[in-house]
Amino acid sequence: MPDPIELKHPLVEHHLSILRDKATPPSLFRQEIQRLAMLLAVKVTEDLPLKEVTIETPVATTITKQLAARIALVPILRAGLGLVDPLLQLIPDAEVWHLGMYRDEATAKPVEYYCKLPESGASDVAIVVDPMLATGGSSRMAIAALKRWGVKDIRLFSVIASQPGIAEVHREYPDVGIFVCVIDPELNSQKYIVPGLGDAGDRIFNTLR
Ligand code: URA
Repeated sequence: MPDPIELKHPLVEHHLSILRDKATPPSLFRQEIQRLAMLLAVKVTEDLPLKEVTIETPVATTITKQLAARIALVPILRAGLGLVDPLLQLIPDAEVWHLGMYRDEATAKPVEYYCKLPESGASDVAIVVDPMLATGGSSRMAIAALKRWGVKDIRLFSVIASQPGIAEVHREYPDVGIFVCVIDPELNSQKYIVPGLGDAGDRIFNTLR
């Protein structure tokens, strides 16, 4: 089972501190979460395959390298949308496939309401994008859908993950790589990550009431 990859970097610590602060307004929250997504994007793409291409610089013909894999970004609606743009900045040719899931507040379990993955023609790599990996329920649902599609290399991409959520995902899917900015120790009785940052979707989209 691969260990979860947790980014250790002063910039991550700095931007996470602002992100977690409940006084941070949505406009700044969006910027900070995008900065963290860019930093994590470098890590999640570190081992992507490359192919050699011959190009002409203004000075000479040379052999360079470009991405060789078909990459799918799979944001989980709605909070995952807040991380798509920074990933597309770095991987502009990625496909984006949306999965809609909401959390049943009574059971804290995910309910799938949108999935339009095609029947065939799976991408080589799929990156499941969700800022918060809390119980692991939505991640497991997303992984199941991507495995049905036929993706062999599935990676989870979250800003904060809980220790129990990671364990839950790896219990069922030990082959899936988990990439996060930070791992928090626990969940509270409402299944929010502690210390966490509250509801990421509400803070990104300014719908906190
Ligand atoms: N989803 C969130 O947005 N925050 C949590 O802490 C858990 C799930």
